[in-house]
Amino acid sequence: MKVWLKALLLSCSILTSQGLWANTEITLNGQLIQGSLIRGKVPSGSTVLFNEQELSINARGQFVFGIGRDASLRHQLTVIKPDGSQQVVPLQFEARQYDIQHITGVAQKYVTPPAEVTERIQNDTRKVRAVRNTLSDKTAIFAEPYLPAKGRISGVYGSQRVFNGEPRNPHYGLDIAAPIGAPVLAPWDGQVLLAEDLYYSGFTLIIDHGMGVSSTLMHLHAIDVVVGQHVRQGQKVAEVGASGRVTGPHLDWRINWLQERLDPQLLLVE
Ligand SMILES: [Zn+2]
Repeated sequence: MKVWLKALLLSCSILTSQGLWANTEITLNGQLIQGSLIRGKVPSGSTVLFNEQELSINARGQFVFGIGRDASLRHQLTVIKPDGSQQVVPLQFEARQYDIQHITGVAQKYVTPPAEVTERIQNDTRKVRAVRNTLSDKTAIFAEPYLPAKGRISGVYGSQRVFNGEPRNPHYGLDIAAPIGAPVLAPWDGQVLLAEDLYYSGFTLIIDHGMGVSSTLMHLHAIDVVVGQHVRQGQKVAEVGASGRVTGPHLDWRINWLQERLDPQLLLVE
């Protein structure tokens, strides 16, 4: 809601300082901090640029964008309405502080993988990148998400990871500790993009929710759905497991906007 208020304030300042009438019909929903997914709406038929990048807009004028863990903080949205009038909305994001998480007891093959799995890991990365480029016109992402598993939050977005004493990539998901076999639910409606066993993330499910937004559900024990299948929000799609680089059973839920890794926790309604 913070962003939406900002957009309104901007139109007020245009009104008072320049005496112009800005017919603001721009709404933005989300938190202006690193890792955030912002969902917006403009008059249908408008063009929206996030910085220089033209965003995909559906017939209702809805669009999304997001900034990553370490993204720069100053951005802008340019809305060009169907009548050609243009409005620039400056967006000042807040920086975040991230924890350092020390994890011990990880199988060494997941900390320093043997040479013979290098190609497999590269293949995994390529496949995941490719499916995350999916840009469909589904609108599921504009609803509030379901938490995909019940349990204690055991890991958060952004933490710097140190495995068995060796620094590795930051953590980009929300970890929910739950027993093996506990149900994993679809956070929103969507269509399955990937369902397979990957080296680091174990049994992995990627679901397209539309507008470039996907969920990745990792370290699963079993997957109940197949690629191409449509799933409903709250439907059981998998079971919690301990596959891949883990020290115990949990679900790791990630959200991407295309290749941008975002924080699922920021989307959960308190
Ligand atoms: Zn995790």
